[in-house]
Amino acid sequence: MLTVDRTVAWLNDFCDALIEHKATLSEYDRIIGDGDHGNNMARGAEQLKNALLDTSPKTLGEAFKTAAMKWISTVGGASGPLYGTAFMEMAKAAGDATEFDVQPLIKAGVAGIQKRGKAVAGEKTMLDVWIPLSEKFDAAQLAEAFNTTTNMQATKGRASFVGERSIGEVDPGAASSKLLFEALLKDVVE
Ligand SMILES: [Mg+2]
Repeated sequence: MLTVDRTVAWLNDFCDALIEHKATLSEYDRIIGDGDHGNNMARGAEQLKNALLDTSPKTLGEAFKTAAMKWISTVGGASGPLYGTAFMEMAKAAGDATEFDVQPLIKAGVAGIQKRGKAVAGEKTMLDVWIPLSEKFDAAQLAEAFNTTTNMQATKGRASFVGERSIGEVDPGAASSKLLFEALLKDVVE
């Protein structure tokens, strides 16, 4: 279960993790993409932290909408629209609620990512972390989904250009999604 305070804490913890791991995320992207993922995500993170201080959300919908707007307007690349749409679908699912279950939120996020990215499971994208967690949310499932994604061959997006060499390399979107869900594991209320 998430409350408004826990949601704001989650988003802040996610932002802190993105800023802390900025160089690592860009390094993953340099190997199988264009090397900008850490910088792009950290830019959104700085903006969102300020916005959460300025707006102090009163509902879960307001919190996720703030995240969506910042990601769409400042992050750029593929990740801006993908995370932005995920947060926007989470905002719609939660609406005016001040408490909400985690599982339906993740499912709403998956629907947003699929709609925007036209991706399916098994293509070595962030979805390969999100989909298993939408079915079962715990630390073991997160670890397994992340490792499974790393061992896939990329068949979607820029990473597909490196073909078999992508096997064993970390997908940057999967890595930032891992940070998102690690923050949620820390902040979610049983
Ligand atoms: Mg990139």
